[in-house]
Amino acid sequence: MSHNGKVQILDGAAVRKVIFERLKPRIEQLRGRLKRPPGLAVVLVGRNPASEIYVRGKIKACGELGIHSEKILPPESIHTHELVEIIDELNRRPEIDGILVQMPLPKQVDSRRVLEAVAAERDPDGFHPLNVGHLVAGRPGPRACTPAGIIEMLKHYEIVMAGRKAVVVGRSDIVGKPMALMLLQENATVTICHSRTANLAEECRRADILVAAIGRAAAITAEYIAPGAVVIDVGQNRIDDAGEAERLGRAEEFARKGYALVGDVHPLDVVQRATAYTPVPGGVGPLTIAMLMSNTVGLAEARQS
Ligand code: NDP
Repeated sequence: MSHNGKVQILDGAAVRKVIFERLKPRIEQLRGRLKRPPGLAVVLVGRNPASEIYVRGKIKACGELGIHSEKILPPESIHTHELVEIIDELNRRPEIDGILVQMPLPKQVDSRRVLEAVAAERDPDGFHPLNVGHLVAGRPGPRACTPAGIIEMLKHYEIVMAGRKAVVVGRSDIVGKPMALMLLQENATVTICHSRTANLAEECRRADILVAAIGRAAAITAEYIAPGAVVIDVGQNRIDDAGEAERLGRAEEFARKGYALVGDVHPLDVVQRATAYTPVPGGVGPLTIAMLMSNTVGLAEARQS
């Protein structure tokens, strides 16, 4: 890939808008056939402020699209079996197509048991082992929202994946691993890196498409980025130090908000090296909820077909 000096900013909000527009006629059709809108239940345990913000965003998106949503708010002290009972009840309700359990759950709750209690046919996050299996086998099914959104973004901007070298840094179950599998499905040649990778910078420099999902502010600096690479930054890290924000070119944001939001990729370096990149905020972030909506609609369609 050559670097001709022009850098394209990959705009998550614009892609989300396109995804929403494509969903609207499908939702209308479902309303006609089911005599009800698709339905999403969101289970939010306790009062984690970050989780409350995420859930608000998800409920708002449902409202914009005319998807029925309901919030279930069990107390922080809930036990695993009680939460599993709530989910079992939701699994049996015909008007609920998707059940989302907002993570993280309190310490006393067995998160895995709870996530696996959500029926695979009602799993809009694509976390159920059966849906993970569908992804591995390349069969249809709900896909993890953040990496699925990134694939939509790459397609929207007509960034070729087939035959290209993709490097994914991070191997979590919700981002890194499914991202690598989805890129493989698109016929990229995929490398997965993690905290034990030797010569991380060297591995990353091989990438035509570099995805950073690490959770460390500005960890991917110029030496990790091949000139002309496409760089996808999944990280969302809060910078609370004024000096650090200034070094990362975010003094103005810091002055306005008292903190700055920075990705895993160095925001100044990426502009120097990449041909295209996702900014933070405004890149990958808006796509996660868009794909949650898309998965919910897909589940409703699959149940009534
Ligand atoms: P996890 O903490 O679950 O996983 C982080 C991964 O990064 C691990 O696989 C870890 O390796 C790897 N890693 C950590 N340090 C290094 C290092 N120094 N060098 C190489 N690899 C390293 O995080 P998530 O996958 O859940 O999230 C990643 C980031 O994405 C976070 O900033 C999160 O906030 C953000 N995020 C954003 C979303 C969005 O909608 N924009 C959605 C979800 C997440 P190992 O496995 O060896 O420990």
